[in-house]
Amino acid sequence: MNTTEQLAVDREHLWHPYTSTINPLPVYPVASAHGVTLVLEDGTELIDGMSSWWAVVHGYNHPVLNQALTTQAAAMSHVMFGGLTHRPAVELAEQLLSILPTTMQKLFYCDSGSVAVEVAMKMAIQYWQAVGNTDKYQFATIRSGYHGDTWNAMSVCDPVTGMHGIFAKALPIQHFIPAPTTPFAGEWNSSDIEPLRNLLETYHQTIAAFILEPIVQGAGGMRFYAPEYLRQASELCKEYNVLLIVDEIATGFGRTGKWFAVEHAAIQPDIMCVGKALTGGYLSMAVTATSTAIANQICSGEASCFMHGPTFMANPLTCAVATASIKLLKSSDWQANVKRIESQLQQQLAPARAIEGVVDVRVLGAIGVIEVDRPVDMAFMQRRFVEEGVWVRPFGKLIYLMPPFIITEAELTTLTSALLCVIQSIDKKEYNV
Ligand code: PMP
Repeated sequence: MNTTEQLAVDREHLWHPYTSTINPLPVYPVASAHGVTLVLEDGTELIDGMSSWWAVVHGYNHPVLNQALTTQAAAMSHVMFGGLTHRPAVELAEQLLSILPTTMQKLFYCDSGSVAVEVAMKMAIQYWQAVGNTDKYQFATIRSGYHGDTWNAMSVCDPVTGMHGIFAKALPIQHFIPAPTTPFAGEWNSSDIEPLRNLLETYHQTIAAFILEPIVQGAGGMRFYAPEYLRQASELCKEYNVLLIVDEIATGFGRTGKWFAVEHAAIQPDIMCVGKALTGGYLSMAVTATSTAIANQICSGEASCFMHGPTFMANPLTCAVATASIKLLKSSDWQANVKRIESQLQQQLAPARAIEGVVDVRVLGAIGVIEVDRPVDMAFMQRRFVEEGVWVRPFGKLIYLMPPFIITEAELTTLTSALLCVIQSIDKKEYNV
């Protein structure tokens, strides 16, 4: 099948994320990828600024991760996890325990980030049932959050930018409070915490857990907020007997400059979700972690166990590649790399502040964001970025970079120059949708 035929079948039959079947956005066919480079079917090379949605921290086609997969495939690709266990699952546990917050001692392996969030929410419900408190069945969260596309995950996504408009009637009703306004390095505005205090004061008897993305709100707006908010939120949750679920699916494994974003606030959550970069972006896997006390409480309840068990739980291939990815991070100087990327992004994106239509430029760890004053035309921008030799996929008013940690200074300069060039060159009428 040649590329034209491939694209025709794709257009006719394949659904892409958040895409119309009637008028699908153009897609670019990738033939291969290596390092930070995507190679299109026609030979065009693009420097990747997206890490395939936060995941590919080591770059593509990494020999160590490839080896982990082929070695494991030669032994066994899959075996059920009910009643059986295996070395890849146990080795991954060892690796995770060495980097997760110390109270996170019980690990539940899931298929994807959204499922990890569902699992976390189910854990919270089962926990309170086991405690004997059946009134606690609701969830609270901050606005501008994103936690996935499955049912309960969707119910705690931002009600405006999320999918509440369409699914509202079918979704469980949750409590939403304003997101903190103090930026990551800003002077703490103590009124930021008041909405949570007021909410918990009034409704703590029915709230099972407070869920949020620590420090970085990703798909809901690429916002970076003050660690003090997280610290005080953790205190309030303890005070009001509400579990704290942190969704580290996007932030985990170094992206913000720490192994996990909770470290910026030095808190220990009750339940934590990780995913995306867990496997170095090779395969879909996520983990929901909790403390021994919470896990044991859940299992002393009516069901005597946690009620979840996916077919592909602890798939040996995903576990093997995740183990190799964590070891690779440990053996690399990822902190220095993230710091280097952070200062380069700060320096090279700063001139965007002077471009008409740009309302904010912000950088944290290996994440750089340019916010403009109106939604951009994604198809147009994507085409322009491809013309500039880079892969960047903006959404809404946000044009952002989160490159693999292995990106060189020169490659990153190509990305930031392309960003400035495209934003500068677009006539506002053109990028206005
Ligand atoms: N939580 C957060 C913070 C995410 O960024 C995402 C994915 N963008 C998810 C949950 C859902 O993960 P997945 O797409 O693997 O289901």
